[in-house]
Amino acid sequence: MTASARPPDVRSQTREQLVALFSEWQQPAYRVDQLLHWLYTTRATSWEQMTNLSRPLREKLAATFTLALPELVRKQGSHDTTQKFLWRLFDGQLIESVLIPASPALYGEVSDRHTLCVSTQVGCAYGCQFCASGLEGYKRNLTPDEIIGQVLAVERWHSAPSAPVSPATLSDPSLTGTPSHRKPTAATSRPRLINNLVIMGMGEPLANYDHLLTALRILNASWGGGIGARKITISTSGLAPKIRQLAEEPLQFRLAISLHGATDIVRSKIMPINRKYPLTELTSACEYHVARKGKMMTLEYILIAGINDSLDQTGPLARLARRLHAKVNLIPYNTVEGLPWSRPTEEVCERFLQAMLNEEIGATLRREKGHDIDAACGQLRLKTERQLAHAPGVRLDTPP
Ligand code: SF4
Repeated sequence: MTASARPPDVRSQTREQLVALFSEWQQPAYRVDQLLHWLYTTRATSWEQMTNLSRPLREKLAATFTLALPELVRKQGSHDTTQKFLWRLFDGQLIESVLIPASPALYGEVSDRHTLCVSTQVGCAYGCQFCASGLEGYKRNLTPDEIIGQVLAVERWHSAPSAPVSPATLSDPSLTGTPSHRKPTAATSRPRLINNLVIMGMGEPLANYDHLLTALRILNASWGGGIGARKITISTSGLAPKIRQLAEEPLQFRLAISLHGATDIVRSKIMPINRKYPLTELTSACEYHVARKGKMMTLEYILIAGINDSLDQTGPLARLARRLHAKVNLIPYNTVEGLPWSRPTEEVCERFLQAMLNEEIGATLRREKGHDIDAACGQLRLKTERQLAHAPGVRLDTPP
């Protein structure tokens, strides 16, 4: 079934839409709040669990909407507790989310928060040369519920009591990575785990603008995910017109630009989007965003050996950061199997950081978490798909 052919998932509906529908069905508005409590606080996964809704209402809901969370295929955790989740969607497509524990080098101040990095597309059409997500092309946009579902499924998985695995993991043990021995059980209200969201996983988020914004409004709403807009960072490779559109949104999401090159020559070499929206155009869209929102943005800069790690880049990068009142997040490259790029030495990374600090730019160097678990965007999915292609007979389906 294609994404457009299946009935909408109930989690892609806003409260207003549900109130209108329930009114058509001659149901009082408080029933909507009961439903929303089941969806976002209890994180129910079946209509049967919603025992305070009448059976006929549950049947009507079931006939109108799907109610599904992505299915866990594979989970990897590293010694520093970064955890990577590979999910299977209803049509068999694979996507990734990464759960990152508190770190001073990520977004905002240090606290006991958890950050989740979510995907917005299956594959990616933008073809950045260093990235695993684009290697096998673009497949489709995620629907709002598939974006929201990554948050709910991670929270559900994380808070589940210990129980024997009925492995929603690959049936070949050589492909299971570090298997989880926990599985969500009965629905109960659970405390929220994720209080920071970065939209920086597989896909270009602003190329799936409408679905992304619907998902984020629901994740931000007090009746939904309850994640503050200021705790949500949208990252883009530089879709200038969409950055301007985002500047008009009333919610105060944070913006991060995947810059990775401070001059057109370097950036165009590794990011084809720069040929469409070169730095002058991107910078002007960013300035517009800053002017409308009055908020600081982040420039993400992956340091790749011999490509963009020369000190020549630090001057232009500092000028750009100063002009945009942006902070700079330096990230040593995570190698991707099949790609020729590598991470610079620690010395080179530190020298680049020091040059930025000398320019009095707020810069951090990420001491990368998850380097050992294929943490670069798209890597786990790519590896799994390739393993499956070379291991006929290995099933992705859940054993009985
Ligand atoms: S870096 Fe982002 S925009 Fe570029 S190919 Fe990867 S997922 Fe797509």
